[in-house]
Amino acid sequence: MSGSGSTAKYTYGPVPSRRLGRSLGVSLIPHKTCSYSCVYCQLGRTRHPIAEPASFVPRDRVVSEIGERMAVTSPDFITFVGDGEPTLSSDLGWLIDTCKSRWSVPIAVITNGSLLFREDVCERLHDADVVLPSLDAGDPETFARINRPHPELDFDTVVSGLIDFAAAFDGRIYLEVMLVAGLNDTEVALRGIRKLAWAVHPERVDVTVPTRPPAERWVRPPEPMKILTAQRILHSAQKAARPENGVFDLAGFGTVREAIIGLSSRHPLRREQAQEVANAFGEPTRLEELIDEGELSVVAYEGVDYVAPSRATTDGGR
Ligand code: SF4
Repeated sequence: MSGSGSTAKYTYGPVPSRRLGRSLGVSLIPHKTCSYSCVYCQLGRTRHPIAEPASFVPRDRVVSEIGERMAVTSPDFITFVGDGEPTLSSDLGWLIDTCKSRWSVPIAVITNGSLLFREDVCERLHDADVVLPSLDAGDPETFARINRPHPELDFDTVVSGLIDFAAAFDGRIYLEVMLVAGLNDTEVALRGIRKLAWAVHPERVDVTVPTRPPAERWVRPPEPMKILTAQRILHSAQKAARPENGVFDLAGFGTVREAIIGLSSRHPLRREQAQEVANAFGEPTRLEELIDEGELSVVAYEGVDYVAPSRATTDGGR
């Protein structure tokens, strides 16, 4: 196939999402701008952590780009996610409201939950349909080790903010717990998380594990028995390591290179997924050429090969 339209800068997909079906991703944040530096982050380490929201994008341009995508595709969700923590965008509320006024597609926000203690952040999320916050730790020490927060962020404040936000929010809350072997997969650690998770009263808890190359090379998913134990303790029905299935929407990309680099910079692609993209453009040899030319790197993780842009080795947080 050949793509159509201009190259997408703020949107990607729809991509198959483990938790949201076909999700049109919208990124309002410069690459790896975050209040955390999680050890499992697929975007690599956070070089410049920030905890103060700001405007990073021309919001009218973002809306027109979403409009271009919505004219040719029907996602299950418009999802604010992407290259860092979306609640750091002071444009988030305006963009959620504008999307809701123009399209009858539910809005999701995938967030690390670190800023929900702030009134302005909660107000911006008010009209979202689903908020998917993370909760990886039940105590300050584990929080510091796994999420490596901005120095201004205090565990108790973050957790209280999450609980209070959930109590006041009219939409759905899907809580995500990312398990990392040796950090938060013991029964004690999981019971600590459960205590807080129950205070949040989420509609569901999704237990996940790192399935793509993480920021720290030593990060590993727990053993299968520990994952099952976590699902039991956290009452999670989600299959933790289920890879995404489905077809990437390539209509916004003009070339194989644009498509593979665009998708893999936010969402590392399994090598076979990248090959499917090249095949869809009718250029099956192009993937190997991009690897040979040094534009793409192959990263092995848990016995699976991924491709990622060579300039930003790994990518895409939660
Ligand atoms: S996983 Fe998410 S919250 Fe954690 S550092 Fe990456 S982008 Fe930030």
